[in-house]
Amino acid sequence: MTSYTLNTIHKIVKSIDRSTDLSSALNNLVQGIHDALNVDVCSLYLSDNTTDMNILMATYGLNQDAVGTVEIPYSEGLVGLVTQTGETVNIENAPTHPRFKYIPEAGEDPFFSFLGVPINHHGEHLAVLVIQEESTRRFGDQEIAFMTTLATMISGNIAFAKARGLLEDLLSGTKTSGQFKGIPGAPGITIGEGVVLYNPVDLSSVPNRYTANPEKEETRFRSAIQKAVTELQNISQLYENKLPEADRLLFDAYALIASDKELLKATIERIHEGNWAPGALKETIEEYAGQFENMDNEYMRERANDMRDIGNRILGYLQAEAESDRDYPDKVILVGENLSPLDLSKVPGNKLAGIVSGHGSGYSHLAILAHALNIPAVLGFFGQIPMSKLDGNKLIIDGYSGQLIVAPSETELEAYGETIDSETELLKDLADLNDKPAETPDGYRIKLYTNMGLLTRVRHLIDVATEGIGLYRTELPFMVKDNFPSEEEQCTIYRQVIEAYAPRPVTLRTLDAGGDKVLPYFKIKEPNPFLGWRGIRVTLDHPEIMLGQLRAMLRASEGFENLKILLPMISSTSELDRSIRFIHRAHEQVRDEGLEIKFPQIGAMIEVPSAVYQINQIAKRVDFVSVGTNDLIQYLLAIDRNNELVAKLFDPLHPAVLKALSDIAKAAKKYDKHLSICGEAAGDPLLAILLIALSVDSLSLSAGDLLRIKSVIRSFNYEDAVKLWKKVQKFDNSEPTRLLLTRELEDRGLGGLTRAGK
Ligand code: PEP
Ligand code: MG
Repeated sequence: MTSYTLNTIHKIVKSIDRSTDLSSALNNLVQGIHDALNVDVCSLYLSDNTTDMNILMATYGLNQDAVGTVEIPYSEGLVGLVTQTGETVNIENAPTHPRFKYIPEAGEDPFFSFLGVPINHHGEHLAVLVIQEESTRRFGDQEIAFMTTLATMISGNIAFAKARGLLEDLLSGTKTSGQFKGIPGAPGITIGEGVVLYNPVDLSSVPNRYTANPEKEETRFRSAIQKAVTELQNISQLYENKLPEADRLLFDAYALIASDKELLKATIERIHEGNWAPGALKETIEEYAGQFENMDNEYMRERANDMRDIGNRILGYLQAEAESDRDYPDKVILVGENLSPLDLSKVPGNKLAGIVSGHGSGYSHLAILAHALNIPAVLGFFGQIPMSKLDGNKLIIDGYSGQLIVAPSETELEAYGETIDSETELLKDLADLNDKPAETPDGYRIKLYTNMGLLTRVRHLIDVATEGIGLYRTELPFMVKDNFPSEEEQCTIYRQVIEAYAPRPVTLRTLDAGGDKVLPYFKIKEPNPFLGWRGIRVTLDHPEIMLGQLRAMLRASEGFENLKILLPMISSTSELDRSIRFIHRAHEQVRDEGLEIKFPQIGAMIEVPSAVYQINQIAKRVDFVSVGTNDLIQYLLAIDRNNELVAKLFDPLHPAVLKALSDIAKAAKKYDKHLSICGEAAGDPLLAILLIALSVDSLSLSAGDLLRIKSVIRSFNYEDAVKLWKKVQKFDNSEPTRLLLTRELEDRGLGGLTRAGK
């Protein structure tokens, strides 16, 4: 494909990106293809997979009146053939083809040659792109290559535009009941109002929001402009002796654009039409940037990026006050393109009712926190829907199935209201289990611990009777600071937990930085952070950090006997041996300082496949092993735990995962070592049945999962779980396992724990 052709394709893609609604996006597309290939007809048919109909949505060359009215079933016509086969159809004389369907109102009579190309997005068929000509000829290789490349490149844009179209119809009331499918993040159902938290200084994620006080917004905006202009002028002065004048001029030019009268006027007009300052600024900047992007001169096109840069700077100044001024509704469903665990604390008091995030999967740290807080969450909508449009709208989220319902109908509100009621009932029943043991009816006892650390507040929010802390992630005290916390600071934090739970065990894990847990003052730049310098690899390379942390843990346990130390990301025996030597050294040091400290139990996280293969050698060396299923599944199945594109493949019931768990359990039994499971999968009611059969000693769960899992344990005889495990071992994929275990839960009246059927 020539660079000329690629440029043309890029231009078409941009014209779709820029359009403000579905119909202009599709019109830009068909017009762009016509201009590029000079064909007589170019049309786009959107495929509606709920009705199995292809609908003509835009055309260049056919009858415009047919747009939106011509609907052809998948089983009919050449367009249907493309949908059904998923293949490109290239025919020189279409009317003679057996699948040809004559549609009088389309005005197709003069056209004979036909090329139809499917548009697929992540395995879903979205639309059919068609070109037609009067002559009878087969379209050539170049044309097919152009259309196929274009179809793949625009699939994301079409999916997005389609969702935006639906969203707009829902919000304007033209349509009711629109559901968007994301990924379950944390269980539960909730109804509330969307509040969009936009990314710091990212204009594109700013929502439009109604303001009742345009005067105040105007003042804010004028002051932000003033600050941005001063800042840009200062930058230019700062570089006075460091950059040639020609380069410094760039900043002067920026300052000039920022103080441009037209920009000011257009934005203030928008503010007085009722949009708040950040939304009005976004609209103006997008309008300007769009004009630059449409220019043929490449230099001028690049200026679009300058416009956005400047817009972001102004936004930076607007933003600081904006969020603090915010009035939160009573039931906030927090929405953001990439919410981080810390964002949740921005919602005051107990108003946080649900979470919708563009990025993230059920095993990301955001989901783990939502679980712990018992707040329903749905994730993975990035690139699927314009999240900023959800602001201020009524939403329902179903954290069991990953469904997001926008502008719900009365019937939906009623139906989900009933489900919420029965869920509340279920939770009430579960609350009765709070002081009952996690024991199967035939007497097999499992200890239930909680995970802690992502938010220290958690313990006070969820009042569950835990038997101890099975995993304390020590990353947070490190993440929320500007420098490594001192030994003293760490000691205070750890002691609070050790003391609060004593004599129940408290398992402190050594620092597991790296991967997606970035310390702001210790940034590690790597192309593959999850396969890089992470967890124990970092601390073994930094004895000062490792020893400081271990000493803090040991000192914090003075006078108590409940400390356990857990080592993350162990992938070889030498790492384990070196880590154990560090623990001994730290213990000797604090003892030499005169402290009486009991030597702690030492455990290894099993979360890397090599640790599964060496489980016997590892088990021999430690007091306990703890399986981190989040990472183990990620590394075993080669699925990034944070990547929403592959989230549905992240499967705790995959036979390879079950085999790994079974091998770990055998080794723990052989060496008589305590076996704990501490990843999120331990809170999966289906997997929990099998974990009973594997004779695990303890599960460490998000607080929100504890009672659900206790109810599973109290409903399954150990013997029955073993029988199920035997059956499951025969299956070569997880589907029959899921069906079998779901049925078993339902038979015991626990179907509500998974809502698998939803
Ligand atoms: C895990 O990997 O399962 C685990 C418990 O650790 P983290 O989620 O902190 O990586
Ligand atoms: Mg882990």
